[in-house]
Amino acid sequence: MRDDLQRILLTAEQIRERVAQVGEEILARWDGETEITLVPIMTGGLIFAADLMRHLPRHMQIHLMSVSSYPGRATTSQGVKIDTALSGVPADLTGRHVLVVDDILDSGRTLAAVSAELKRRNPEVVQTCVLLRKQRPEAMAFACDHVAFDIPDEFVVGYGLDYDGYYRNLPDIGVLSAEAIAQGPG
Ligand code: 5GP
Ligand code: MG
Repeated sequence: MRDDLQRILLTAEQIRERVAQVGEEILARWDGETEITLVPIMTGGLIFAADLMRHLPRHMQIHLMSVSSYPGRATTSQGVKIDTALSGVPADLTGRHVLVVDDILDSGRTLAAVSAELKRRNPEVVQTCVLLRKQRPEAMAFACDHVAFDIPDEFVVGYGLDYDGYYRNLPDIGVLSAEAIAQGPG
């Protein structure tokens, strides 16, 4: 699996350290009494959310939201689809402090669509947190509250991020080789 990477961008160790810091940053923004409603974006945000939430020792409810924009072997966004059947977010979020957690900010369409959908449910506030932000104008233009790492504008896998459903369980984050993309992961 690791052999399919052209290079490693972030090691498991670097990610672990930074996730703990991001947890501190989030806690610093909200006072100690604030109950957090965590909305991990599935499936890419799964691993980041699982690690991050253990650095957020607050009263918390967790509701998953299922979104897809890179179906199958696409390596560019094909438009955002929120799968409401698979999403367990309550219809009424009155008074809640919502923290959306996603893997990567690329075109910004996913977070824009998810934030808009959640705001329709009347929360107190919606904040966004991503592990990675690509250094491209569209990503930088989105006002994301918490960003763990800025990375070059390349297609990356690992630590939740997939290519055709594979590589999510890779502990590091890296760039796939051209051969691995051409061959397909299976
Ligand atoms: P956006 O809507 O910001 O364009 O893209 C966000 C979603 O696209 C992410 O949640 C992620 O699932 C997917 N995505 C964007 N860039 C990459 C990438 O480099 N690698 C992988 N594996 N997925 C990506
Ligand atoms: Mg995703």
